[in-house]
Amino acid sequence: MLQDSFKRRFSYLRLSLTESCNFRCNYCLPNGSACDNKAAELTLTEIKHLVKGFALAGTSKIRLTGGEPSLRRDLCNIIETVRGTPGITQVAITTNGYRLNKDIDRWLDAGLTALNVSVDSLDADTFHLVTGQDRLPDILAGIDRALALGLAKVKINTVLLRQYNGNSLSRFLDFVRDKPISLRFIELMQTGDNGQFFAAQHLSGRHIINQLTAAGWQLLPRLYNAGPALEYAHPDYLGTIGLIMPYSDHFCDDCNRLRVSSTGQLFLCLFAEQHQNLRHLLAQDQPDALVDFLQAQLQFKPLSHQLANAQTGQTRQLAMIGG
Ligand code: SAM
Ligand code: SF4
Repeated sequence: MLQDSFKRRFSYLRLSLTESCNFRCNYCLPNGSACDNKAAELTLTEIKHLVKGFALAGTSKIRLTGGEPSLRRDLCNIIETVRGTPGITQVAITTNGYRLNKDIDRWLDAGLTALNVSVDSLDADTFHLVTGQDRLPDILAGIDRALALGLAKVKINTVLLRQYNGNSLSRFLDFVRDKPISLRFIELMQTGDNGQFFAAQHLSGRHIINQLTAAGWQLLPRLYNAGPALEYAHPDYLGTIGLIMPYSDHFCDDCNRLRVSSTGQLFLCLFAEQHQNLRHLLAQDQPDALVDFLQAQLQFKPLSHQLANAQTGQTRQLAMIGG
């Protein structure tokens, strides 16, 4: 399996399918997507070769992200191709939910195994303010549809924003009372473009943990190869609450993920200063060459990001690489 110089092993790839997005989240793309590299997006064949190489190197889970991955017209073919790759057991998507209600049946038929939907507020007006899209009811209906279809792994991502949802914990808790959903609060991360917004809106996840603990929520034991979320449960609730706190100490110690952008650039870290072009290895079916390249590059993966020092690398916003 792929391993870096700190003996961390990498079994999880986050693959961005496009930088384009149709939302204007105020922390990510407040002015909308100005993506001009659609023509350079990886083709289905290149994705097939990429995933085959990663699988050969021990990757078992692929997350499709973006930008907004559901803007790719060939999304179902991509899901099918990834799921059909020997060694890949989990195919997840992170989506803003724009097409969820319409398309979840087809995504599941194609082989999707897990779904993350971004919902930053359960108040329709606030949701509109944050995302620029007045679509909360339709997105929630899509989540219900996914649950009704029996999808076992449904998560909600909520970026913690001081002004917009910092005092809304009770509403989120009510939401997961009867739903088998993991709702995860993600601390707002500083990126190249959002410095002022970050300074005004960043809220520590500690604020949520204190309230959860006071209300009897308990930290679950970490599973092997789990992501960085701290997961809390309560006997009166079907759902769980997760906290992703990239500014906490040792956040990167168990990093198990690599990222590839929609144009085939390898990012060893979400906030990397440099990226490596994989494209020349994707035109042909040559998985061994890709594995050799990946293993060589991994020796340059740093121990940790430097977000605490406001070093955001090349990452102008997370729509560039998918978060
Ligand atoms: N468009 C899809 C979506 O919003 O779910 C997928 C791409 S988006 C970049 C992936 C995740 O990153 C979303 O949950 C989004 O809320 C989160 N995100 C974006 N910018 C962020 C930031 N600056 N800090 C923390 N999370 C962020
Ligand atoms: Fe688009 Fe996702 Fe960024 Fe929102 S967070 S603007 S939905 S890429």
